Amino acid sequence: MENKKQDTASALKDIISHAKEYGFVFPSSEIYDGLQAVYDYGQNGVELKNNLKMVWWKAMTMLNDNVVGIDASIFMHPLIWKASGHVDSFNDPMIDNKDSKKRYRADTLLEDRAAQYEAEGKAEVGKALLQKMAKALDAGDLEAVRQIIIDENITCPISNTANWTEVRQFNLMFSTQVGAVSEDASLIYLRPETAQGIFVNFLNVQKTGRMKVPFGIAQIGKAFRNEIVARNFIFRMREFEQMEMQFFVRPGTEMEWYAAWKEVRMKFHQAIGLPASKLKFHDHEKLAHYANAAVDIEYEFPFGFKEMEGIHSRTDFDLKAHQDLSRKKQQYFDPEINENYIPYVVETSVGADRLFLAILCNAYTEEIVGEGDQQKQRIYLNLHPAIAPIKVAVLPLVKKDGLAEKAQEISRSLKFAFNTTYDEGGAIGKRYTRQDLIGTPYCVVIDYQTMEDDTVTVRDRNTMSQERISIADLKEKLGYAVSMERIFEKLLV
Ligand code: ATP
Repeated sequence: MENKKQDTASALKDIISHAKEYGFVFPSSEIYDGLQAVYDYGQNGVELKNNLKMVWWKAMTMLNDNVVGIDASIFMHPLIWKASGHVDSFNDPMIDNKDSKKRYRADTLLEDRAAQYEAEGKAEVGKALLQKMAKALDAGDLEAVRQIIIDENITCPISNTANWTEVRQFNLMFSTQVGAVSEDASLIYLRPETAQGIFVNFLNVQKTGRMKVPFGIAQIGKAFRNEIVARNFIFRMREFEQMEMQFFVRPGTEMEWYAAWKEVRMKFHQAIGLPASKLKFHDHEKLAHYANAAVDIEYEFPFGFKEMEGIHSRTDFDLKAHQDLSRKKQQYFDPEINENYIPYVVETSVGADRLFLAILCNAYTEEIVGEGDQQKQRIYLNLHPAIAPIKVAVLPLVKKDGLAEKAQEISRSLKFAFNTTYDEGGAIGKRYTRQDLIGTPYCVVIDYQTMEDDTVTVRDRNTMSQERISIADLKEKLGYAVSMERIFEKLLV
């Protein structure tokens, strides 16, 4: 059996069409020709995404006694975004090519060039380039950023020219108005990150939950950014979902916690099925205004290694800024050292959609099966059973002679425990293929022998091998095989 995994950029196209054809991701508003950088999750996509969110949620809140969750609103007081720095500096530098009229992020053009140097074995040159860019951006010297693009001879891939405009800063927050009458209405933002909902609830949770530092607050929710260039499918969207956890620690201990969470998060990605060889840490050259250390966990997407999760040591920047602007103390009394202080924060922030894309890219498998002229291509999604949209398909070999009724009875008994589907239409091979394409790990087949001895065959998606087991054992055996417990066990070792 030859396993052909595609790693080229064209693989992304196959993944996008697979995602659409099998009900994972649809372009938004498709009958109106779509809305750029906005996508909808279909019947299988929503199950996969919910499973990813659930496994993250439980890994945070269930496995850690000192991490609890909240669900804050998308709308928040506009001063929150003043305090956090988003109103003044949540900008991306943009540049246009005058010939193609295409718009780019100036920093992304330079990052791509640095990645190119690295791929050519000139990592030091790439690093120096990033440092130069970071220095110019830190100084707010946009003309210098433009000059680096010109010195590097970076051209627009559409027009192939270096006829660039000046670099301008663009604020990524979406705003709207609250209030019925426009004179009374006030400006409000759609949150560009979920983190601030956690910061402003820090004391509520700490007091009502009697939490002791160190402790964490986790949240999953929508975030909105008016991205300058949205590309690569669901990698960069204007509406997306974040899974963030703010961990509040005693000042001075943040680096230990930063190192610890880095490891925990890397382990998580491997436990849900992403191979270590396709994951790496990438330290930030340019630290955000709030951070004293920051690293990305990158995944090797078909378009290269790119950020999937950010881990940031955010100091006391956010709580202090909220304390200053709201004039409400954001302090914690630490009984162990008898001191009041504003805790420092280590944050882990992963995009649910980017994780979904990484999982989908990794799972998409094309292989050649059979021998000689019987050879044919098979496509399946190699998803960890615990996150697969459907865990078990129950299939009667034929509809007649009571096999369908027996199969429905088995399907009913399993569906309370996990996502089960019943399918009696078409040849058995076709039905296997349908399940392979959406990543169902197990197919239970009811045949004539079932009617005699109450056993069924269980077909494994990856190996296609079949095992005969008794109906009485099905729920327990399959239940463990598809349970999130198998992921959690890997996290605790
Ligand atoms: P990038 O550099 O790619 O713009 P970022 O560094 O601005 O990302 P963070 O602010 O650290 O991203 O957000 C944390 C996580 O949220 C990212 O690691 C990513 O997984 C996710 N994320 C951020 N922006 C988007 C987006 N436009 N679409 C989808 N996911 C996103």
